[in-house]
Amino acid sequence: MWEKVSGSIIIDVLDIVIVAYLLYRLIVFIKDTRVIQMFVGLGLLLVLSFVAEALGMIVVGRIIGTLQTVWVVAFIIIFQPELRSALTTLGLGSGLGRKGVREIPAEQELLKAVTRMSKRGLGALIVVEREVRLSDWVQKGVPLDAEITAATLEAIFTAPGPLHDGAVIISNNKIAAAAVILPIAEREELGYVLGTRHRAAIGISELSDAIVLVVSEETRAISLVYGGHIRRGLTMDDLTAELARVYRRQSGGPRKHKRRASDRAADLPVEPVRSGGAAAPESQG
Ligand code: ATP
Ligand code: MG
Repeated sequence: MWEKVSGSIIIDVLDIVIVAYLLYRLIVFIKDTRVIQMFVGLGLLLVLSFVAEALGMIVVGRIIGTLQTVWVVAFIIIFQPELRSALTTLGLGSGLGRKGVREIPAEQELLKAVTRMSKRGLGALIVVEREVRLSDWVQKGVPLDAEITAATLEAIFTAPGPLHDGAVIISNNKIAAAAVILPIAEREELGYVLGTRHRAAIGISELSDAIVLVVSEETRAISLVYGGHIRRGLTMDDLTAELARVYRRQSGGPRKHKRRASDRAADLPVEPVRSGGAAAPESQG
């Protein structure tokens, strides 16, 4: 008798823990993204359908029922990148079976490249794939299969070469593509502060777990972008430390860490519009 009761209590506790975890993941998922607007839309539809049912409005009820089906299909199509990223974070997506990437590929070459390009005032945008596959974006640029060396990266971003505009994508320890046009982040508050290169970096980091290195042609500042956040004006030491921090984690976005005064100086006021969180990368995760 007692065993039966304690068994069912364990099941109940497990039940609650799993539901709580799923809710938590859902909230994290919708926190920073456009998804929230879709959820508001669905909420409205649900409320409307309850009202229609309560009042016995048959035609309105049917229309809303159809809209709900359309909503589900539209949701999957529109948010395919976000869903893929979320599933990967859960360990179910394209990252299934892939070992967490613990180390940025060719770190020394990448650091050397951004330092040299910063010194020369060359604009650069380098996207480093992690667990979420970027093959769709690779196909949109000029496919390459080059070893990651500072000289190659510098050559790519040297104007007026045919590949200097757009982004380089690093995938599977190779320079997989150049001249890739990335999605531009369109959050209003970015418009005044950042140009298209930096907004493209934020854009791709919102759709994947990639980390992005940016060298500004205008200010020569080196930035690191991930999880929709940008940290600008990094020194080599900052960059090395920040990369170690990102790669020590297995997956997903940034994690909480103690902030230094210089961190704040490097940040831009680019907190996600809807989250109301802190501006720095640690507001996610
Ligand atoms: P910088 O500080 O280097 O001036 P910025 O953020 O101010 O950068 P722009 O001055 O607009 O941005 O930089 C324009 C360059 O950014 C383009 O020449 C191109 O190489 C790159 N760029 C612009 N849009 C995209 C995009 N959608 N995807 C990839 N690269 C882009
Ligand atoms: Mg500019």
